[in-house]
Amino acid sequence: MRSHLLNDTTAEHYRRSVTEGVERVAAKLAATDRPFTGVSVDDLAPRIEGIDLDKPLHDTAAVLDELEEVYLRDAIYFHHPRYLAHLNCPVVIPAVLGEAVLSAVNSSLDTWDQSAGGTLIERKLIDWTAERIGLGPAADGVFTSGGSQSNLQALLLAREEAKPARDGWEGPAALGKLRVFASEASHFSVKKSAKLLGLGPDAVVSIPVDHDKRLQTLALAREMERCTEAGLIPMAVVATAGTTDFGSIDPLPEIAELCDRYGAWMHVDAAYGCGLLASVKYRDRIDGIERADSVTVDYHKSFFQPVSSSAVLVRDAVTLRHATYHAEYLNPRRMVEERIPNQVDKSLQTTRRFDALKLWMTLRTMGADGIGALFDEVCDLAAEGWELLAADPRFDVVVQPSLSTLVFRYIPAAVTDPAAIDRANLHARKALFASGDAVVAGTKVNDRHYLKFTLLNPETTTADMAAVLDLIAGHAEQYLGEPLDRAS
Ligand SMILES: *Cc1c(COP(=O)(O)O)cnc(C)c1O
Repeated sequence: MRSHLLNDTTAEHYRRSVTEGVERVAAKLAATDRPFTGVSVDDLAPRIEGIDLDKPLHDTAAVLDELEEVYLRDAIYFHHPRYLAHLNCPVVIPAVLGEAVLSAVNSSLDTWDQSAGGTLIERKLIDWTAERIGLGPAADGVFTSGGSQSNLQALLLAREEAKPARDGWEGPAALGKLRVFASEASHFSVKKSAKLLGLGPDAVVSIPVDHDKRLQTLALAREMERCTEAGLIPMAVVATAGTTDFGSIDPLPEIAELCDRYGAWMHVDAAYGCGLLASVKYRDRIDGIERADSVTVDYHKSFFQPVSSSAVLVRDAVTLRHATYHAEYLNPRRMVEERIPNQVDKSLQTTRRFDALKLWMTLRTMGADGIGALFDEVCDLAAEGWELLAADPRFDVVVQPSLSTLVFRYIPAAVTDPAAIDRANLHARKALFASGDAVVAGTKVNDRHYLKFTLLNPETTTADMAAVLDLIAGHAEQYLGEPLDRAS
């Protein structure tokens, strides 16, 4: 069994095993003609249930053959140009190489004595990102597992920087006075974070969006004023730079003004829109982000990085102390005086992957402009898709894209019952998924069911979008044309 440990004596076994795996995946990628096979849970589950984990195969080739059956054959392939569903990107090769290196070396980024150069590389990438944002000389941050964790950490800092915390908490009631403002199109992790942070059930005040799905600043001003008059405390505003559903970008400069006026922490959730930080053409769409107190970025969404790769950035490094705890075994206080950089002092996690290496390899190979150009391409593609949809009487399209998302709905001329149209759209999405020809997402707009393209693949063409729209219309028409019971 020792032959399976990666060490000096097994280097050859390592090389062969990994190469074998890489060969399989490469062959798979080359042969994938659809984003999905359309396999059902009922078909797939028995294959996985049937495997006895207590009876190992002892042979890499056999394990890979089995993996083909239980995973590779029927996986959802984000690199396919007709995968248009969620915020999943095709990944760039330098980052995949980084992934292979980081798991083989297996550094843990919690302390210097488990990572050395890894810590410095992560720090340099944090500095690079903060500079792109324009957060100023005192900025800092840390890599996280994803946007949800970044939002949680940002709101933790905001809570600890709010007045009741600075006053040493006047009692548990103070927690209940804190309010967080976020648009109705903000990510659900904002509410989840508020709950985890012990804020009250009414802590998150939902602000309406305008026609373009951007937070309405007049409504925000009104709510912040109302909150203050009621003796409540505006703890933070979460501005979304790229909403998950629409890619809409909240008016950041106006929100910054209001945060200044009411002494609230400004958090910008740029999990999706962070790709603009590297953009060659559209960086100005997130102007105002430099005024944030904290920013969430998901490199695994718009920097073409494998999951996971994300970070939280802060304007003032000192605020990260709210996540600092010292353990004798790991990061004793004296190490701070010795100026030993222990990233765990800034993180909610302890043992932590060296995800930063993927971004490092990417920037060193392609440069930021290379990444930004890819993201610009998908933004341009979305603009083309919008024109396509706007000109097509079969579809209603919601907002002109600020990033790379299109939300639309099939509207047959002959049908006026909105509930029937809802069902036809739901059916079209399901039928498309089951066919495996394309994968699209769905959401609700004004309580009606819509479909969604999240475009993150520069290989997707206008022709792909047109073809998928035809497939959707076909499935919906077929459904509406069926004389049988449609209650389901
Ligand atoms: C995806 C997303 C998140 C959550 O990020 P994860 O990496 O999935 O945890 C948060 N905010 C926005 C706006 C997002 O699009």
